[in-house]
Amino acid sequence: MKDDFKYKCGNCGQIYNIEKDIMLCPGCREEFIKGKPLKGVLKVQLPDRLKNSLAGKEKINVFDFLPIEEKFFPPISVGNTPLIQAKNIQKELGFENIYLKFDGTNPTGSFKDRASYLVSAFAKKNNLNEIVVASTGNAASSMAGIAAAAGQKTFIFMPESAPKAKLVQCLQYGAELIPIKGDYDTAFDLSLEFSRRTGFLNRNTAYNPLTIEGKKTVSFELCEQMSGREIDYVFLPVGDGVILSGVIKGFSDMKYLGIIKNLPKIIGVQAEKSSFIYNAFYKGQFDLNYKASTIADSISVNTAHNGYTAVNDLKSAEGEMILVSDDEILSAQNYVSKMSGIFCEPSSAASFAGFLKFKGSISKNKSVVLLLTGHGLKDIDSAVKSIKFPKIFEADIDYIIDNINL
Ligand SMILES: [Zn+2]
Repeated sequence: MKDDFKYKCGNCGQIYNIEKDIMLCPGCREEFIKGKPLKGVLKVQLPDRLKNSLAGKEKINVFDFLPIEEKFFPPISVGNTPLIQAKNIQKELGFENIYLKFDGTNPTGSFKDRASYLVSAFAKKNNLNEIVVASTGNAASSMAGIAAAAGQKTFIFMPESAPKAKLVQCLQYGAELIPIKGDYDTAFDLSLEFSRRTGFLNRNTAYNPLTIEGKKTVSFELCEQMSGREIDYVFLPVGDGVILSGVIKGFSDMKYLGIIKNLPKIIGVQAEKSSFIYNAFYKGQFDLNYKASTIADSISVNTAHNGYTAVNDLKSAEGEMILVSDDEILSAQNYVSKMSGIFCEPSSAASFAGFLKFKGSISKNKSVVLLLTGHGLKDIDSAVKSIKFPKIFEADIDYIIDNINL
């Protein structure tokens, strides 16, 4: 029985049932205006009964906190990704508790699977077999993969510039891929119109409230994996701001339920050349003509659709934002790979680059979690920019031994 989970508008506070035709708050939504974040983004509100049912429970089942029953989720394993203590990095930087939460081990190699998993379950529960999504790459390949597990069909609107691996993934999973001449925002608009005309379920990030809700599951896992030890800082990459809102929602839900006492300090990291939310957070206004161009494609957005919500969430959580350059991102990607064995994509490495910039303000004994959201193999073209390929050797062992660093 999940009927007592509701949607609540972050703008006017109105409550709605969780139904297929409710996406943005009907009272606050505006027709999508280019350059402007979405108005009336909804969030799931937990029923009060969960508070009482938790008393004395040692192990928490994450499905208890989600608005869809477990039986509707597709037969594929999402979440429960590793939390790795980065001992080599700790040693070199003099910290005692640095943890890498690597979501590249999700089925499609991305954190986005958490949102796709819940959207797919919602579609199953409501007998909807077609799902539409606009994406810079990861949300698309994620939805395609998770929907394939559920036997659902996906229609994907993606900028033609998306990294090839992500396009290939969509096609391997059998999705209907619609590459667009234009940017993510254009793909976003087209996909909404496509959903409107066909009646197919739209999974667009922020627009579909279940995307924030699905992403909150990482916070539950983190608390479980830390076995009661407090998390002091969480660094995460920010593009549209939905992961930011999802992570804060997860910790806030746990605080509401009495599982934790305090939220960790949340530090959102953006690329210098994709700083829509950073600018709004510190300047108090949105630049509606902003044009992003960072190497970290997953966080490259002109208009953060979740902009209003993300800024409000971060303010109420007393978090901060930080900017990193593309060079810092590539160098962080390479450093994390070499020091931990975790090869993450550039947008994920932004978390680590942010930590390197911010670490002077953190006591060495504090616990720091770095959210690494995607696998490095998803964007090889960027990864090669920070490495040097070796020359080709003659097939002669004496020559090889004489010419390499032993
Ligand atoms: Zn509203």
